[in-house]
Amino acid sequence: GGTIGIVGGGQLGRMLALAAAPLGYRVHVFDPHERPCAADVSAGFTRAAFDDVSALERFAAACDVVTYEFENLPVGPLATIAGKLRPGTASLSIAQDRDAEKSFVRDSGGQPAEWRTIDSQDDVEQAWTDLGGPLILKTRRDGYDGKGQAWLRTEEDVRGAWTRLGGRPLIAEKVVAFEAEFSVVLARGLDGAVAFFDSPRNHHEDGILRRSELPAGPVVEAQQAAARLQAARIAERLGHVGVLTVEFFAAEGGPFVNEIAPRVHNSGHWTIEGAATSQFEQHIRAICGLPLGSTALRSPKVTMDNLIGNDVDRWPELVAEPGAALHLYGKGEARPGRKMGHVTRLG
Ligand code: ATP
Ligand code: MG
Ligand code: MG
Repeated sequence: GGTIGIVGGGQLGRMLALAAAPLGYRVHVFDPHERPCAADVSAGFTRAAFDDVSALERFAAACDVVTYEFENLPVGPLATIAGKLRPGTASLSIAQDRDAEKSFVRDSGGQPAEWRTIDSQDDVEQAWTDLGGPLILKTRRDGYDGKGQAWLRTEEDVRGAWTRLGGRPLIAEKVVAFEAEFSVVLARGLDGAVAFFDSPRNHHEDGILRRSELPAGPVVEAQQAAARLQAARIAERLGHVGVLTVEFFAAEGGPFVNEIAPRVHNSGHWTIEGAATSQFEQHIRAICGLPLGSTALRSPKVTMDNLIGNDVDRWPELVAEPGAALHLYGKGEARPGRKMGHVTRLG
């Protein structure tokens, strides 16, 4: 037993809290919003800004260990509670800056798509000349669910691109002609032990994960072992403790790393019903210094579909479907693009 603090109160925090309970842990949530969905299933809730150092210090003092479920957090304030924080601030600072992330991946022996750092319109034009199109511009920080991205397909798109994305620090990366997308979701324990979940094939629509499925198919299976090696080296070099997710493109000459999430991940939600240990329980085990659980499949076939925006209106039909495991996050208003829940089917 003991108390686990979670910084961030979204659905990932909620599912972490639900997984902590059977192991006898109490959860406290730290979030600036009025009623974050993780707080509804937790024993304690601190409402404060993520950069409120004194609130963070008081929060950490009341917890045995503190983790985070969201990577766009200010690193400086969290560094003040570094003694209790798992994973640490290295994982956070690398994952929240796409430029630092890609350099780190490359220096760890991983393979990112070719990219350039962009700080001006001149840089955009230089990248177009150097790398050739098509390119994707991405804001270096704060992007998620495909937000803050623009595709450059033609010379026309290149003009004015810098201002179109708000004149913020960017990267430009080569579009990878991938055959499939997949992810490696691994956990690294306090003792350095690493356990991998099976890699699902991930389907995105408009930059948002729509579905994860297993088996992932031969294209993904052929690149899974190489991807695991890259992901494990990244975890090791970060000194990461907890679940770490690396998104990949399966392509000729691949696998290519897309990005890192230093946390449990939407593409791992299928593990709640589909694996012997869920990614959420696995994260709790890792940060609490417990042995990692089995990642064995409970079914050879698993699909996880996200309920995005108004999809959630289908819940009465889904809750009545035999064998469908419905998860609703209790997030209130179903705005377009907002992840409201998911449904997992085995077999
Ligand atoms: P997340 O919610 O996963 O954090 P994000 O906003 O950080 O999303 P990315 O993962 O960078 O966005 O990109 C979203 C999707 O856009 C990818 O899953 C992929 O489908 C597509 N995409 C991104 N980069 C590339 C690329 N270099 N080549 C081809 N497709 C890409
Ligand atoms: Mg991302
Ligand atoms: Mg992504």
